[in-house]
Amino acid sequence: MYWEQEIETLHRRSLEALQLKRLQQTVRLAHKNIPFYQKKFTELGTTPRDIVSLKDLQKLPFTSREDLRANYPFGMLAVPPEEVVRLHTSSGTTGKPKAIFFSKKDINQAAELIARCLIMTGTTKGDVLQNMMTYGLFTGALVMHYGAEKVGVLVIPAGPGNTQRQIALMQDFKSTTLHVTPSYALYLASVMHNEGIHPKRALSLRRAYLGSEPYSEETRNKIERFFGIDVYNSYGLSEMNGPGVAFECLEKNGMHLWEDSFILEIIDPETGVSVSDGEKGELVLTTLRREAMPILRYRTRDIVTIIPGRCRCGRTHRRISRIIGRSDDMIIIRGVNIFPQQIERILMGIKAVAQNYQIVLEAYDQMTVRVEISKDLFDGRVEHLVNLKNEITEKLRSEILVRPKVELLEPGTLPVSEGKSTRVIDKRTL
Ligand SMILES: [Zn+2]
Repeated sequence: MYWEQEIETLHRRSLEALQLKRLQQTVRLAHKNIPFYQKKFTELGTTPRDIVSLKDLQKLPFTSREDLRANYPFGMLAVPPEEVVRLHTSSGTTGKPKAIFFSKKDINQAAELIARCLIMTGTTKGDVLQNMMTYGLFTGALVMHYGAEKVGVLVIPAGPGNTQRQIALMQDFKSTTLHVTPSYALYLASVMHNEGIHPKRALSLRRAYLGSEPYSEETRNKIERFFGIDVYNSYGLSEMNGPGVAFECLEKNGMHLWEDSFILEIIDPETGVSVSDGEKGELVLTTLRREAMPILRYRTRDIVTIIPGRCRCGRTHRRISRIIGRSDDMIIIRGVNIFPQQIERILMGIKAVAQNYQIVLEAYDQMTVRVEISKDLFDGRVEHLVNLKNEITEKLRSEILVRPKVELLEPGTLPVSEGKSTRVIDKRTL
């Protein structure tokens, strides 16, 4: 039930003492070996000796992804290059990638965190994990792979796509666990549905880990129902090792963030000031154990809240909510801040809605939500379609406070992506 029971259930006071000790080491390392941080410390008039309590975190500089890009390729490295054993990059939609370096110790520690996550959700030796994330420069697949091997799980390095082969692998090797993006899991479900494959009868699946894209609770429920499995939320980002930063336990009520390895802060993205407990804000993370590339106060751009109270599983590491939005995904329509995930949540809660949808933004802040609906609704009865359209429009309006135009489409009209899906088409010219 635990991979490292002592550390996972450490008393808060001891956990905080450990955080402080590791923070001081991290700050000394970053200050000594990374010119970028030396410069930042000088500008702020701070030295590593000023960090005497966890509250002093606020004296430290933030790190943005622009900082990582500006220091590409080797600028953020804190060890001699020969100590690095693995390179990953994280690419955004624009500009240079960010380089992420791992020493041998870093690889091992990232795998240890994954091992905790797997054991916490019941995956253990004897399980078969079909890893449908992209292998390569992206951290998602490899970090999970190493952690699963550490636990003794058989890992099938399937990668994404090639759906027929995925189904065959699941059948032939009796995969019990999937690591997959939510959009691909939905796609897989639709293919299996069309081919008349019943996952509960034909497969041995027990659980899935979803990651790398934001998705709603309704999407989780859909995937759980179709496959007859438990789906666990996971949170990670390449800048912080990749997957395994925070993970749900069997309670499925928020993700435990491994606080012996990261310090978490929740700030107001506009002002940079910490928000009060339970309020939503941007997650900021500081690495506590990374050797090759320590990062101080990294602005993740992910909007979350802290789930209050102790978890029934006994772990003391605090839980974060699912990602409520990304501060950059935020759409502003007629002065209202909207996250695409809010729209997804509403759509996935309506039975007649199929998996695929698109949000189109046009001149004068016109918003059209294009929705594929299930086949049964095209029965030629116009009033059904009109009622559904009104229902969707009303539900969206009450959630996002803007009345969108809703367009109903036959299934298969919108492009399907097998990897990251692009849901928002912004045609506005500013
Ligand atoms: Zn728990």
